[in-house]
Amino acid sequence: MSNFIVGLTGGIGSGKTAVSNRFAKLGVGIVDADVIAREVVEPGTDALAKIAAHFGQHLIQSDGQLDRAALRQTIFSDADAKQWLESLLHPLIANETARQLAAVQSSYAIYVSPLLVEGNQQGFCQRLVVVDVPESVQLERTMKRDSNEQAQVERIIASQASREARLAAASDVIDNNAGFAELDKQISQLHQQFLDLARNSKAP
Ligand code: ATP
Repeated sequence: MSNFIVGLTGGIGSGKTAVSNRFAKLGVGIVDADVIAREVVEPGTDALAKIAAHFGQHLIQSDGQLDRAALRQTIFSDADAKQWLESLLHPLIANETARQLAAVQSSYAIYVSPLLVEGNQQGFCQRLVVVDVPESVQLERTMKRDSNEQAQVERIIASQASREARLAAASDVIDNNAGFAELDKQISQLHQQFLDLARNSKAP
């Protein structure tokens, strides 16, 4: 278990996954908020059974998985439904996050979440890394990756923290505006820095 936790965040399509995959290749344990949010409602979980009982079986797809888009639609304009869902899922997510962070074997752990700044969740992180690109690059890369319409991606960008708010909260910024070679360089520098900080944080 490591006590040194590096938060990693950034807007949609900024490159969080590209960055966390690279840290993982360097042997760093990664805990991903999006992965955990899916794990707690996997087929066979109590949470999924409760969601189906509360909102209806139509939210379960034929493969047994939660229809996340339909659930989002259900809670979109219903504050009570949203609150019910959050009070079910938040404690489960918090427990699972703590369990996975405690299981990390590397000198430091990376906690990836798109909502670290919005949710003001960075309190348990010793550093906060922001993956930064201009909005135009976020738009272009997300549309290319997901074949989404521009207006849809723009809505998501508008619903997230602003670039300025994220940069103001950052202890370290990864500029992901250039290519992957430039990204690798920044990541190996940060990795060295975090290894040193984690080592020093353990010193008496
Ligand atoms: P989301 O918030 O939607 O999960 P993300 O922040 O994890 O997104 P990625 O999926 O890592 O973002 O990156 C978005 C897209 O941009 C991907 O297709 C990825 O391959 C591409 N990409 C990331 N970094 C770069 C880069 N430096 N140069 C070119 N393409 C990149």
